[in-house]
Amino acid sequence: MAYTAFISDLHLAAERPAIVEQFFRFVSGPARGADVLYVLGDLFEYWAGDDDIEDPLNGRVAQAFSELHSSGIPVWFLHGNRDFLVGEAFARSAQARLLSDAALLDLYGTPTLVMHGDTLCTDDVDYQKFRAYARNPANQARFLAQPLAARRAQLRGLRAESEAAKQGKSAEIMDVNQQAVEQALRQSDYPRLIHGHTHRPARHVHEVDGHTCERWVLGDWYANGSYLHCDADGCRAVTL
Ligand code: MN
Repeated sequence: MAYTAFISDLHLAAERPAIVEQFFRFVSGPARGADVLYVLGDLFEYWAGDDDIEDPLNGRVAQAFSELHSSGIPVWFLHGNRDFLVGEAFARSAQARLLSDAALLDLYGTPTLVMHGDTLCTDDVDYQKFRAYARNPANQARFLAQPLAARRAQLRGLRAESEAAKQGKSAEIMDVNQQAVEQALRQSDYPRLIHGHTHRPARHVHEVDGHTCERWVLGDWYANGSYLHCDADGCRAVTL
């Protein structure tokens, strides 16, 4: 049966070669059977700007998506909180299409809202402040005006800071806010939401305004890869 595949939070980085290879096996294997592949953010551990495609790993990723596209499978890419600087130049070389913050899909007849998921974590006030700063076009332009090496170094520093900040935050603060989830489902006319970001793969059921809704949270690719497989009968998580 025709299906659509969703992945997120791979955090691809040269320091994690096993996951990198699993990603390339996924693209040349299971992804080939899909109608469409959606990447819902944090494909890369970080992205310093589209000139970062010179990095051998990044170039290979673009090549893999481009081959998928050539074999008839469109790739859609939605920004995460690590790779929101992925731009049109990357999209062109990967032959992928960029989505903005969220998208409403008709998935074999079921309206499905897809997003990275960080906008749902409204209890994490510090993160939301950082997000507003980092998504500001003027701030991005200033950042991108620096040499690639300086940008990479800054992002490595930010990653270390963010890991340290996470240690001091409760699990609840870093998870989605229920009202934000309900609001997203309401605004998209229910009944299904797919997102990543929290690294807590699960299927949740929400009753919103009398509608029974489902929320799929994608898994990260730390211990092993996984994807969500959705067809006309519904969705299921597949571990690689
Ligand atoms: Mn994320």
